[in-house]
Amino acid sequence: MKNKGYAFFIFGGSGDLARKKIYPVLRKLYKERELSNLKGIYALARDENGLPDLIKEWEEDFSKLFKFIPFDVTSNQSYADMGKEIESLKGVELIFYLALPPTLFETTIRHLGSLLRRFSNPRKIIIEKPFGFNFLSADRLNNTLHKYFIEDEIYRIDHFLGKGAVQSIFSFRFSNSIFEGIWNKNFVDHVQISALEDIGVEGRAGYYDRIGALRDMVQNHLLQILSFLAMEPPCCLEPERIRDEKIKLLLSIREIRKKDVKNIAVRGRYKGYLQEEGVDPNSKTETFTALKLYIDNLRWQGVPFYLRTGKKLNRKLTEIVIVFKEIPGGFAKLLDCFPQPNVIAFQIAPKNVITLKIQLRPPAQRFISCPVESRLDFDMEEYYHEKIPEAYEMLIKDILEGDHSLFIRADETLQAWKIVEPILEAWEEDDHIPEYEPGSWGPKEAMELIEKDSRRWLIV
Ligand code: NDP
Repeated sequence: MKNKGYAFFIFGGSGDLARKKIYPVLRKLYKERELSNLKGIYALARDENGLPDLIKEWEEDFSKLFKFIPFDVTSNQSYADMGKEIESLKGVELIFYLALPPTLFETTIRHLGSLLRRFSNPRKIIIEKPFGFNFLSADRLNNTLHKYFIEDEIYRIDHFLGKGAVQSIFSFRFSNSIFEGIWNKNFVDHVQISALEDIGVEGRAGYYDRIGALRDMVQNHLLQILSFLAMEPPCCLEPERIRDEKIKLLLSIREIRKKDVKNIAVRGRYKGYLQEEGVDPNSKTETFTALKLYIDNLRWQGVPFYLRTGKKLNRKLTEIVIVFKEIPGGFAKLLDCFPQPNVIAFQIAPKNVITLKIQLRPPAQRFISCPVESRLDFDMEEYYHEKIPEAYEMLIKDILEGDHSLFIRADETLQAWKIVEPILEAWEEDDHIPEYEPGSWGPKEAMELIEKDSRRWLIV
């Protein structure tokens, strides 16, 4: 059937994500005439929750395309009503966005899938994070999805992959031979990936207290960044070939044995977390985690990858730091200098900056003198005089075009759960959660994790 435009159905259409991200992106794309074929935006939720005030600010032609439908994802009647709307959309591609509390994903997919059996419209389904709570629930969710949708119709969102700086890793590595040539165990000493937040749970305790830092950040965002950073070049640029390389990388991450968890993973909780509104006073949820992973393949054998993330830390910063090996002998020995290693860093937030740190002799010094650490900062927005679009804008454009490169395939999500699950299991059996001061760098155990390898956490 020929595609006659597309319509969005936003489940959770009155929620935070819909208001703050989805509608502003659709409105912007519409204004820029990138949605000329848009037939409608259907916001689905039980209550409008102040949507009318939001719509008042919109341009008339855009708001005409918008319709709120009272909807309970657990009610058969709601889907019957939706069926009537769909009948008026013959041949239109239907894009269903599950911006719902994750506990409602399964039931929504089942109801929706059954309803869609009556229709032959082309369709896409977008699913927010978290994708499952553990391996089993993610597997179940995939099975439910596959009962009603083919993988090609499914878009599992990890909004970190919509970030311009994360996407730049790919071209930085695979279109610059000067970097790709040193991207391996012969040159790289170790890698750090940090996603630090300075805020706490900020009214989202109900969600966060069931999830914690490992599930919220590591299983998805940080492992996805790691895949881009460490994967092999794909044979070709088709989405499936890119995703093939990412899953290969995830499969190469050394399995964590439960008995080793205490040596490679640390968790922490900021002081005052248990007193936050909505947090269970007996909560065992971590607000910080740091871990060390190894990738057992020819490229990365023996190179540690340190990951850390947490809330109420010293600053807001998402950054990847690649630390290179020191040059043996040379200046360090001759002059009793204290050379620093070369570093390539990708700052992902708050700015989009690639930094190269090198050792250089200051030009006015004697020929043989201590090199000092010097830096080249490549601020992408400044250099290209372009604002990098919001992550959701990038992803929604890809969905419209049917490009899956930046979406998580079923096997990736399962493998990512397999990687972190032994840690979750070990923590389940251990009640001790180290505390850290708000505004600090996390618990002292996180420092020890890296310092016992004679390294330290870096901020570039
Ligand atoms: P909210 O709690 O703000 O919104 C939830 C939405 O779901 C509301 O519109 C609510 O409306 C609706 N809803 C709840 N129960 C039902 C029901 N039974 N039937 C129909 N609708 C229902 O959540 P967020 O918008 O923050 O998050 C949504 C998803 O997006 C989650 O998976 C989250 O993890 C993910 N996400 C959110 C981000 C954000 O910045 N907010 C960032 C990244 C991911 P009502 O209660 O009126 O029915």
